[in-house]
Amino acid sequence: MPRIWIYGEVSDGRPAQVVLELLTRARQLTDGVEVVVLDPDGAAVVDELGAHGAARIHLGTETAYRDHLSQPVADALSALALEHHPDLILFGATYNGRDVCARVSARLGATVVANGLDVEMAGDQASVRSSIFGATQDVATEAGGPTPCVLVRPRSLVAEPGGARTPEVVPVPAAVRPEHCRVRRLESVAAPAAGPKLEEAAIVVSGGRGLQDASNFALLERLAELVHGAVGASRAVVDAGWVPYARQVGQTGKTVKPKVYIACGISGAMQHTVGMKGAKSIVAINKDPDAPIFKLADLGIVGDTLKVLPAVIAELEKRTG
Ligand SMILES: Cc1cc2nc3c(=O)[nH]c(=O)nc-3n(C[C@H](O)[C@H](O)[C@H](O)COP(=O)(O)OP(=O)(O)OC[C@H]3O[C@@H](n4cnc5c(N)ncnc54)[C@H](O)[C@@H]3O)c2cc1C
Repeated sequence: MPRIWIYGEVSDGRPAQVVLELLTRARQLTDGVEVVVLDPDGAAVVDELGAHGAARIHLGTETAYRDHLSQPVADALSALALEHHPDLILFGATYNGRDVCARVSARLGATVVANGLDVEMAGDQASVRSSIFGATQDVATEAGGPTPCVLVRPRSLVAEPGGARTPEVVPVPAAVRPEHCRVRRLESVAAPAAGPKLEEAAIVVSGGRGLQDASNFALLERLAELVHGAVGASRAVVDAGWVPYARQVGQTGKTVKPKVYIACGISGAMQHTVGMKGAKSIVAINKDPDAPIFKLADLGIVGDTLKVLPAVIAELEKRTG
């Protein structure tokens, strides 16, 4: 049976969503998935990892794991991997996951496969599915050599509780190297955000260049507020500086899987659609009846989004009083 490990990133005292997604997939591939949690808040995530099927948790709670960027975490994780030789280590492709994965794979001299969408195992041999050439082709890549490290994009997989058990918790020996603590985090400031996170929202209202001007994103903000959704964007408007990169949906942005995705003034380039085509229902507003987004849409509105949006908002405001 393959021995699969997951890097158990912690975010705001909870397992990062992608860790639960990886755990859900890994427990379908093997029994006895192990998660390595290196965070001062790590003890708080044990139950939720167990509810998603983690059999064993390697737990380290040194403050250095949070205070000194990713070097102490990479030291501890690579030392554990060299001791136990798992067949595969999965990382979520978050900022932190990418950083830790790069350092761990360098220390192990291990193969890295980045940008994964799914993982399969044949015996103890991993293969990774990913998209290439602007998401026009899917490829399966064999991750060979001892302990390959694989980065999987958040929201490519679905997190579901299951395989519940009380995981065995194995303490990670504290062996933080002072020379790897020279960079210290001074402050951490959460960006002010109202409403759900883009990756977690049930409804996403996204805008593209068809909105004509950055100020018109206020319409999307209002609609998102009315439907308890989040605002996304195409890369064109991120590149234009209208909205921050954190809002970008697509190949080089976030992958979202909401119940409803409302694309306003977005053409539907494949680099955008690869990040939202998993939505249950897609609504598109575009003034060009031949816009490619209509090929994906369940409901298409041919019209000026700057006229359609205010009408929808007015109707919702009337209904919600
Ligand atoms: C390597 C690579 C990675 C990329 N990654 C991403 C990515 O992650 N995410 C992403 O989004 N893009 C990405 N792109 C860019 C992508 O190819 C497109 O250029 C981009 O998605 C276009 O954004 P858009 O639809 O807002 O703009 P446009 O293509 O300019 O489309 C604007 C649309 O608005 C419509 N419109 C205009 N005015 C109105 C109006 N008043 N009312 C209604 N409709 C109107 C037009 O008919 C048109 O369909 C990537 C490109 C490359 C090469």
